[in-house]
Amino acid sequence: MRSRSAAAAVAAAAVVVVALLAVPSGVAAQEDAYPTNDASHMGSAEGCSEGTCGAPIAVPSVEVDIETVPAQLMTLSEMSDAEPGTGVTRLIFTEQDVAGRNYVKTLMAAAGLVIREDAMGNIFGRWVGSQPDLPAVGSGSHADAIPQSGLYDGCLGVIGPIESIAALKRAGFQPKRSIEVLMFTSEEPTRFGLSSVGARAMASKLDPAYLASLKDILVENGTFHMAAQHAGYGLNTKDHTEMVARCALSTEYYDSFLELHIEQGPLLEREAGLTVSSSCISTPPPPPPPPPCFLPPRS
Ligand SMILES: [Zn+2]
Repeated sequence: MRSRSAAAAVAAAAVVVVALLAVPSGVAAQEDAYPTNDASHMGSAEGCSEGTCGAPIAVPSVEVDIETVPAQLMTLSEMSDAEPGTGVTRLIFTEQDVAGRNYVKTLMAAAGLVIREDAMGNIFGRWVGSQPDLPAVGSGSHADAIPQSGLYDGCLGVIGPIESIAALKRAGFQPKRSIEVLMFTSEEPTRFGLSSVGARAMASKLDPAYLASLKDILVENGTFHMAAQHAGYGLNTKDHTEMVARCALSTEYYDSFLELHIEQGPLLEREAGLTVSSSCISTPPPPPPPPPCFLPPRS
């Protein structure tokens, strides 16, 4: 059974996503309807439109349903090839992975997002902003899972933003930029031995010949292209080259991107000098101001 504190931590993380998604998305169309005198709900207007730079942006007071995200994570964790009680196993393009994808798309649809999938199975759910031609604010992660992984890994970064958008909608927020939830395909290297396959393709950093050379651990002589097509993706592509090319995104596609992910190692703290907590990652506090100068003024 989940503890209340775990649920609260997940909900707190979703609140962080709410705040971070809302601020860069720009001034709300219904800004005047929000309480604007609470400093905790104000953000800077980075990327603001002409004439509004430097002005504070009102972010509505939003409430994340403390039960929703943990319950959805539990439901998604049941789509697994692992023995019950031994974690989550969901290799890319398997039956359980497809079930998980369908569940995530159901949640995206319920949140009113416009859904599209690319030729390799990256899934996009977009809340269209009032200025839809602007680069979007993105947030997302992955739902494929290494053998017997934890239920939060990746999935929190997919389901959290969906609930965050739902919470912003309930609060009446209307973004200027579109806000998009992205579920990366084949983030884990378990099945083909290469991580971040979907992200590499979107960034045009994936060699199709190399992808074609990777061995499928589940199907003898299988390839990524065959497995993707078995799951229903890239059906009208003839090979890896065509499949990968269809997934490239423009560098102008996203204005900014946030991934909510549990911390799984010490690198952020040890090597990047960041402070990691259960709810946010922050830079160290600024050094104290220098002592006042008592030198006499020049004459
Ligand atoms: Zn992960």
